[in-house]
Amino acid sequence: MGLKLTFLGGVGTVTGSKYLVEADGRCFFVDCGLFQGFKQLRLRNWVPLPVDPKSIDAVILTHAHLDHSGYLPLLVKEGFRGPIICTPATRDLCAILLPDSGHLQEKDAEFANRHGFSKHHPALPLYTLKDAEASLARFAPIAFDQDKQLSAQLRVRFLPAGHILGAAIIEMTCGDTKVVFSGDLGRPNSATMVDPTPVQHADYLLIESTYGNRKHEARDPEDMLAEIVNRTAGRGGTVLIPSFAVGRAQSLMYHLYRLKQARRIPGIPIFLDSPMAIDASDLFCKYEQKLSAAECRATCAVARYVNDVEGSKALDRDPTPKIIISASGMATGGRVLHHLKLLAPDARNTILFAGFQAGGTRGDAMTRGAESVKIHGSYVPIRAEVANLHMLSAHADADEILAWLRNLRTPPKKTFITHGEPDAADGLRHRIEEELGWHCVVPEYRDTVELT
Ligand SMILES: [Zn+2]
Repeated sequence: MGLKLTFLGGVGTVTGSKYLVEADGRCFFVDCGLFQGFKQLRLRNWVPLPVDPKSIDAVILTHAHLDHSGYLPLLVKEGFRGPIICTPATRDLCAILLPDSGHLQEKDAEFANRHGFSKHHPALPLYTLKDAEASLARFAPIAFDQDKQLSAQLRVRFLPAGHILGAAIIEMTCGDTKVVFSGDLGRPNSATMVDPTPVQHADYLLIESTYGNRKHEARDPEDMLAEIVNRTAGRGGTVLIPSFAVGRAQSLMYHLYRLKQARRIPGIPIFLDSPMAIDASDLFCKYEQKLSAAECRATCAVARYVNDVEGSKALDRDPTPKIIISASGMATGGRVLHHLKLLAPDARNTILFAGFQAGGTRGDAMTRGAESVKIHGSYVPIRAEVANLHMLSAHADADEILAWLRNLRTPPKKTFITHGEPDAADGLRHRIEEELGWHCVVPEYRDTVELT
């Protein structure tokens, strides 16, 4: 039984993951993500899909990050009526992330209209908070390691991928053919997440390549974090950590909790300034599999939670050294932008990123040494120290991906390298061909392949 696969995103970029699978007379999406970063990528969010959303039978979701789930509200708005199949933690995280995304889309459009810096009049949101809330009714979670029959011939199963809470590797079986979607692959030996499940067989494999040409620093993140916090506090500055609200914020709190316990950092206050990260911290205690319940509680208690906007603004007015964790992680939106405007021009402060920064984002520009970034229509000078805790990444690096691939007992017929910027995808292709001798393809946007 054959399958037809069309790459509608997550190729040539780490964002917009969206694969159309046609099999057994039906039509499915694996992931349904937003394009983020460069403007020419973001514009793809507005391009109509090659299929009518009404004709899609189901969406199967690897995990909750917006670059994998953030298009769902639009899909539902445009008529999709099938189930969104994912793990329970992914559903709970999407219930936090998608409404926030709708809210941000509305705010951005509103802000652009108010300040007249959009080329479109009026600027419209891609979808609204209401659209996002409506999409939540379509979620139909299933547990890890359970088969879900999608049609007579087709079934799927989720395997733990590490990465973030609920993240899954998808095994899709159609007749005798097994297609494996790695989703975003976590790291082995992570402090807070389980190792990605070894997969022993795949006829076809889609493997992510975010870090396909890189190796994470072997340095202990706690050493680097301690050094930066001590250095910054020593010069009377504040450490601002732009962080992904889900997952990263909680691992940062875990490391800060451990550093405070060991008295390796001064007793300066830590603030978690992101309502979404606060909600995600509750889910961390519910779904976290590696830490004890007591460790989870202590992790979440290390920071003071800032829920309201007034409290958030008050943080910047108070000049005493502190640590602020605020979303979004690549400084593309959210409350962190207001902190950046006030804290980035002061050389005493540190802007500490915590993981991959996609091309075209402010985080990418700043970690590459930009002297200023544009925020809300005006340029903000960057005089603060800028650093990146790369090793806190939730993605396997090239060596770790190769090690995971070596679990397969026989080579797949074809391996598709996805979810990477061009250099990273090509770097991984090269290594897989050289070291494993597998047949690899780096697909392009809107490519279609027949899997037989
Ligand atoms: Zn992800």
